[in-house]
Amino acid sequence: MEELPTTNKIEMMKNFDSWITDNNISMKKIEEFTSNIENVGRMIDNKYLIFKTSGSTGNPATVLYDKQNIDVASAVAAFRTFARKEDFKAFMKNGKRTAGVFANYGFYLACGMSRYLQLQMPRKKNKITVDVNASEEQIIKELNEFNPSMLSGYPSNLALLSNFKELTIKPNVVITGGELLTNEIRKKLTDKFNCYVQTHYSCTEAGEVACECSEKHLHINEDWVIVEPVDKNNKPVGYGVRSNKVLITNLSNYIQPFIRYELTDRIIVHNEKCKCGKNSCWLEIEGRTDDILEFENNVSIAPMSFYKILEEIKEITRFQLIQKSYKKLELRLIANEKDVAFEKAKKELQEFLDSKGIFNIEIFLSDELPQANKISGKYNHIYKDFEESSKI
Ligand SMILES: [Zn+2]
Repeated sequence: MEELPTTNKIEMMKNFDSWITDNNISMKKIEEFTSNIENVGRMIDNKYLIFKTSGSTGNPATVLYDKQNIDVASAVAAFRTFARKEDFKAFMKNGKRTAGVFANYGFYLACGMSRYLQLQMPRKKNKITVDVNASEEQIIKELNEFNPSMLSGYPSNLALLSNFKELTIKPNVVITGGELLTNEIRKKLTDKFNCYVQTHYSCTEAGEVACECSEKHLHINEDWVIVEPVDKNNKPVGYGVRSNKVLITNLSNYIQPFIRYELTDRIIVHNEKCKCGKNSCWLEIEGRTDDILEFENNVSIAPMSFYKILEEIKEITRFQLIQKSYKKLELRLIANEKDVAFEKAKKELQEFLDSKGIFNIEIFLSDELPQANKISGKYNHIYKDFEESSKI
């Protein structure tokens, strides 16, 4: 592998048309297709699903899945994501009723895949996606009515929902994704739902990278993805060493090859034997850890909600949202037309905050550019930068 060149999202998006292995597909055609939101979950040319990443570097990538890649992703998700057999059995027994609390719009993997399956099997009513940006009341109402056997969503958002007494569902298992599942949130959700809580590691470019086992180890799906932990110069680091980045090679996607493609996650790959009996290597991940923002009257908002809003704005190349006080948000932007981008972002954010009953928030455009934390070197898209005292 090391003799092959490495690549990344910027190179891919720059050379998109020649990267795709079907000459009938171009970025122009994709843009036309994706400008119609009705096309979420539908195939372009009846051949490929299109996804946009919620890339952790602020520049979304466009990713095509051919039928083979869809089948592999679905099969791995169905047969490997459950850490414990008993949860899988209970889930099957309860009619495979799945509720996902995700961004229920746009070409994101979770939303697009779920709509694709709904379109394939319109009579089956065992799967719902609840919009993560709806009001808590609405989310809770929909979840209670559906009463899922499996609940999935972003850990920070599920943690917020679990504060509500009104949420009375009794799932057999909770499977989080998209962000790091901390021990604290795992415990909180376990206490609330009284069931097994687990995670998995997936991304749009490589599909299901690793699935958690009963020992809480993320085993790599080595038959479908090659995972190389590397340093900042893309040189491999050994087992047990924290990487700077990850190179992934997706073995099932032939329409858009990902070969030694950089992801910004920091991981540690382990080759020690795992007690669960699986022989594959497993990894630890230092995932995205954006902050939950807090506003007056004890209203909290999960970072993913802001993330999805800002990412949808085409003009923005990279962003960072910093809460300076209960009333003030700073937006740092890299954008082609910064003022246009900012006005759009401000309007969208304000409408969203209004819908949550949070009014009179000052949102200002920063003179500074988005940047990594000077001490930790970590890049956070959304974080809090004030002490409780600024409430006064
Ligand atoms: Zn294991």
